[in-house]
Amino acid sequence: MEDFKQTLVKNGFKGELDDSPEAKEKYSHDASMFELRPKLVIKPLDSADVQTAVKLVAQLKRKDHSLSLTARSAGTDMAGGAINESVIVDFNAHLNKVEKVTPTEAQTQPGVFYRDFEKETLKHGALMLSYPASRELCTVGGMVANNSGGEKSLEYGKVKDFVNELKVVFADGNEYTIKPLKGEELKKKLAQTDYEGKIYNRIYDLCEKHYDEIKEAKPHVSKNSMGYTLWEVWDRETGVFDLTKLIVGSEGTLGFVTDIKYRLVPHRAHSGLLVLFLKNIDELGELVPKILEHKPATFESFDDATLWLSIRFMPSFLKLLGVKRFIHLLITLIPDGLQLLRGIPKLILMVEFNGETEEEVRDKVHGLHRDLKHLRARYEINGFEEDPTEGKSEKFWIMRRYSFQLLRSKVKDKHTAPYIDDFAVAPEHLAVFLPQLQKIIKKYKLFATIAGHMGDGNFHVIPLMKIEDPKERKKIEPSQHEVNELVLKYDGTLSGEHNDGLVRGPWLKAQFGTKITGLFREVKDIFDPENIFNPHKKSDASWSYSYSHIRDHF
Ligand SMILES: Cc1cc2nc3c(=O)[nH]c(=O)nc-3n(C[C@H](O)[C@H](O)[C@H](O)COP(=O)(O)OP(=O)(O)OC[C@H]3O[C@@H](n4cnc5c(N)ncnc54)[C@H](O)[C@@H]3O)c2cc1C
Repeated sequence: MEDFKQTLVKNGFKGELDDSPEAKEKYSHDASMFELRPKLVIKPLDSADVQTAVKLVAQLKRKDHSLSLTARSAGTDMAGGAINESVIVDFNAHLNKVEKVTPTEAQTQPGVFYRDFEKETLKHGALMLSYPASRELCTVGGMVANNSGGEKSLEYGKVKDFVNELKVVFADGNEYTIKPLKGEELKKKLAQTDYEGKIYNRIYDLCEKHYDEIKEAKPHVSKNSMGYTLWEVWDRETGVFDLTKLIVGSEGTLGFVTDIKYRLVPHRAHSGLLVLFLKNIDELGELVPKILEHKPATFESFDDATLWLSIRFMPSFLKLLGVKRFIHLLITLIPDGLQLLRGIPKLILMVEFNGETEEEVRDKVHGLHRDLKHLRARYEINGFEEDPTEGKSEKFWIMRRYSFQLLRSKVKDKHTAPYIDDFAVAPEHLAVFLPQLQKIIKKYKLFATIAGHMGDGNFHVIPLMKIEDPKERKKIEPSQHEVNELVLKYDGTLSGEHNDGLVRGPWLKAQFGTKITGLFREVKDIFDPENIFNPHKKSDASWSYSYSHIRDHF
């Protein structure tokens, strides 16, 4: 590593190099349950620094095969995607400027926090609406690499649907601009005989040769972050060839993103929420399709365990929210507290509609309310005040959004163990799927909540565990197997938005089969034959490696 450090400096690397014990400790974790201790952390000042680092690793790798680079932005990855035993490249330290914003597009460096990016886009009355629940903590570059999604994805899609153009440093250490190409532009690119042309040609040939199998491999759910999104790269009908679809969601295993152009949509100021309290999960079978017919902007849910957790750890909300918002939460909770005396609902569903005007939102909410009247669920209509989603309905959003964060922070002697944290099954299966899921959670006595994006059938089950206790630790593998097999039985995906990382990479074969996993391997070999970028993730993952790096202390 000393060799690499010295060569970096000699070759004009301008950023910082840090191999202090503190840096190694800090960067050995993300929000996952894994631990990998890096040997060096580098903080590039600009894209030229990133290119220098990649070029030098490519050269020195012949001498030291273990040398590799893993990108890291805010480190909120739940799957272990942002950690590595060699060199971490921190994009958050300096590559953190929003460059240009118009009402329809924003150009930004990858290390910008989403919260800062949003402030800039809102100045133009526009938003990039595939922000995750970690919107206050994560960066726009991490969101690209994970193909993140969130509460607005039901209506607007995922990050892949918002990326117009990317700058990416490939394994030859040069930066390339990638965007959707067709017609003459595509022909010209395919005619290039240089490094870039070769990548385009080989990926194009791979997509053409296995066209039908690749299209069929697309998981039968509305969101997916498993594998490489090969099925969206080449479309014979439209003639569009789009490499951004391969880079988005690739976890920094194919190259490093140095610049992003995001499509923006107008901010719709008005919204209203319909909240449903379900005593019986069986009702989901009829409810979910009916609600989806009304095309809500958001359709979220949380379970009775989340509700209990919120009540039990109420003081922690005080810390998270501050005194003013906490008191507001308590006051608005009183009517619901009284309602709860009549019985705890099994599931709370939150259906949100957006619109240009208050009237439009009112019509949408009342339309759904009318259609659901014959069902036994209790309804509550919130909203239609000046700022409805942050007004009366805030309590529900707090429980849905912050309970996740609450789980993440150490609660007593337990810690979050995200290993069944992100599966998705088509909503029509939920009425039969969810009771079976609950049975597994009960069987292993997991202290876990079920919250997620009901409209996409995407749930975040994150057990609280004392992971260093061998008895608790022993539950991880068998319970993960049972849940994952159940998800696959209902034709779902093991990751809707959090990506494969160390925790799901070894499941790619079970998810996609041998043939498609082989094609993923080919994709990796085309982009990164020397395995410079983020080893042990995606097609390079293995059970033995991942499971030997589960944390044994916190
Ligand atoms: C409380 C909590 C809630 C969450 N909720 C959601 C949610 O609702 N939806 C969701 O999708 N995710 C969610 N996540 C997961 C995570 O926050 C997101 O995936 C987020 O987008 C990651 O951003 P980050 O900046 O932290 O990236 P990091 O964790 O730093 O990195 C994520 C991945 O991107 C790669 N990477 C980072 N920068 C680059 C780059 N410049 N070029 C190439 N690769 C790069 C890393 O190597 C890693 O594989 C949640 C996490 C937490 C802790």
